[in-house]
Amino acid sequence: MDLFKKCDYERLKQVREKGIYPWFHVLESRQAPVVQMEGKRMIMLGSNNYLGLAEDERVIAAGHEALEKYGSGVSGSRFLNGTLDLHLQLEHALAEFTGYEDAMTCSTGFQTNLAIISAICGKDDYILSDRENHASIYDACRLTFAKMLRYRHSDMNDLERQLQSVPDDAGKLIVTDGVFSMRGDICCLPEICALAKKYGARVMVDDAHGLGVIGPGGRGTAHHFGLASEVDILMGTFSKSLASLGGYVAASRTVVDFLRHASAPFIFSASIPPASAAVALAALRHLRRHPELPTHLREVSDYARKVFVQHGIPLKPGAETNLAPILPIVIGGTQETLVVAKRAYEGGVFTNPFIPPGVPEGGGLLRTSVTATHTPALIDEAAGILAEALKC
Ligand code: PMP
Repeated sequence: MDLFKKCDYERLKQVREKGIYPWFHVLESRQAPVVQMEGKRMIMLGSNNYLGLAEDERVIAAGHEALEKYGSGVSGSRFLNGTLDLHLQLEHALAEFTGYEDAMTCSTGFQTNLAIISAICGKDDYILSDRENHASIYDACRLTFAKMLRYRHSDMNDLERQLQSVPDDAGKLIVTDGVFSMRGDICCLPEICALAKKYGARVMVDDAHGLGVIGPGGRGTAHHFGLASEVDILMGTFSKSLASLGGYVAASRTVVDFLRHASAPFIFSASIPPASAAVALAALRHLRRHPELPTHLREVSDYARKVFVQHGIPLKPGAETNLAPILPIVIGGTQETLVVAKRAYEGGVFTNPFIPPGVPEGGGLLRTSVTATHTPALIDEAAGILAEALKC
């Protein structure tokens, strides 16, 4: 069979023919609550710029300065010629903020998950992973020869049942998103940590959507539960609250030092460019100086949830009480989901549609999210447009 047969993707063709292709819309402005997209004013309900810092002039200025001082790129990996004092400052600030001994940065969050899991887990180990974990965790597990056991989403009985099936003397890693990216719900960290203790497993949390969002001063999921000392490995990304690009892992000095010397995705890839590192550092410092920002974000997202419910917009069950600014709207069928996304887009609201295989068959949804800089007036306007788009 021709290797390229799969590239002739029938489903994609159908979506294009029906005029409901929803991806790769072109932004022509900054990430902001209102953006310009393909020549049109658009209310942005699809950004992870949770704290609004991607358009903050002070954060942008830090990027400019770094570009001037260090140039445009590092042309090499942290391991070799690509370590800047900026990277070290950023790692130090992250370790301090999250309460770990040490931290290490990678060029994306995706790469960070690959870097951690591929180095930590080997052929005799077991990885217990929530079914709704991010795709990068799935790919990271595939990079190892470890056995991956997926437990039902936040189902602690299922996690325990799977832990019981693992040989006592095997290495075990329980890995979970802190805040789940699609539903916006928070993992059952206290139960996970208790099970980890009972069965001798290590715990890793992907806090891409937790940092800057929950926990005291935005310190994330582990601090939200007061369990930072029980999470062995914390990872996160700069592409959301910290308004940049890159990822980090925070852990004990021993673990981070091991990763620095044993992790192929880290060692063999160029480090974060100066402007992006400086932006992440400036955003983190800004968050430290403004611990009230996550509280404000929470007020905005509570307002959005209330207004959505008033407009009869069907949020995914459980999402009415989310602490994170993620508001998943239940649609159902694939075509229906894409049609509603298109109608919303034409009405002036950008959302992110998710269809199978990203979600189960029949579980199509529009992932919407708000940022600390969305005003009540914008949320009211967007809810009206979404409610109209849903009437089809
Ligand atoms: N983990 C989670 C939970 C995510 O949502 C994402 C990005 N959407 C990543 C990891 C990857 O982060 P990045 O975009 O920085 O590669």
